[in-house]
Amino acid sequence: MSTIAARLIDGKAVAAKVRERVRAEVAAFERESGRVPALATVIVGADPASQIYIANKHKACGEAGMRSVHHELDVETTENELLELVGQLGRDEQVDGILVQLPLPPQIDPDAVVAAIDPGKDVDGLTPTNAGLLAHGTPGLVPCTPAGVMELLRDEGVDLKGAEAVVVGRSKLVGVPVARLLLSANATVTVCHSRTRDLPATCRRADVLVAAVGVPRLLGADAVKPGAVVIDVGMNRTDDGLCGDVDFDPVAEVAAAITPVPGGVGPMTIAMLLANTLAAARARV
Ligand code: NAP
Repeated sequence: MSTIAARLIDGKAVAAKVRERVRAEVAAFERESGRVPALATVIVGADPASQIYIANKHKACGEAGMRSVHHELDVETTENELLELVGQLGRDEQVDGILVQLPLPPQIDPDAVVAAIDPGKDVDGLTPTNAGLLAHGTPGLVPCTPAGVMELLRDEGVDLKGAEAVVVGRSKLVGVPVARLLLSANATVTVCHSRTRDLPATCRRADVLVAAVGVPRLLGADAVKPGAVVIDVGMNRTDDGLCGDVDFDPVAEVAAAITPVPGGVGPMTIAMLLANTLAAARARV
């Protein structure tokens, strides 16, 4: 029988707080500027998972008092056609945020499309300009999931100054930006990846362990220092349902605090997208 000693970090509750804060700030923005922030989303093809993500984002925009417009393009759309739309949205005075839902069909280079997004409207924080600003230590729009990880740590009251932080995963979307943000918060940061030697031993150094890998239950109790704070970004669909990159039950016996999957990092991503859309609108005033 497992004993959960760790505190559960409730991503749903923290996300609800962020969304409530954004809603109040959107109302203030509307009073001051006479308009509401607007998010434009673009989807190419009818991937069912992407359709659900986009529908959730539009619903969240509405609940925050923001406007959203959706562009659904045929699966045969060419890269040039998509680049044309992205450019048009960049010039549209009524649009504050642009989100192109990934993955894209094979005929389209996602890097070329992301690079074409106006950095001031890049609410996913993925353009080379925003990645560069983050690397430079002067963040512009920050990727939503990494921003959500930091918000969870802030809400939990984790003191990052001088803390040993280990991030497993080095993707442009999650691992690298999380590592940059932790470094900016004065943690001592180690980034692990598929070639890391003795992953459990490296992870055991962590006061704060962030897993962003995509391998179900990769990190067990042998990878966690007693008393560590564990943030599990992983979202893996298995025959037993959704699970993270951390083996929750054994790790919850040794960690001080841990995010569940689902209900941890997941809800933060949309909340931070709303916060980014508001920030982009404010920066354009
Ligand atoms: P990704 O682009 O596939 O990157 C995975 C990273 O993990 C890579 O850096 C890879 O190393 C590393 N890795 C793979 N196998 C490893 C192993 N056995 N040991 C150590 N490192 C290993 O994935 P991602 O986009 O960052 O996403 C990571 C996870 O987060 C996925 O489960 C995804 O579904 C989830 N996610 C969740 C949210 C959310 O809202 N909660 C948002 C985004 C992503 P190399 O670089 O050496 O290949």
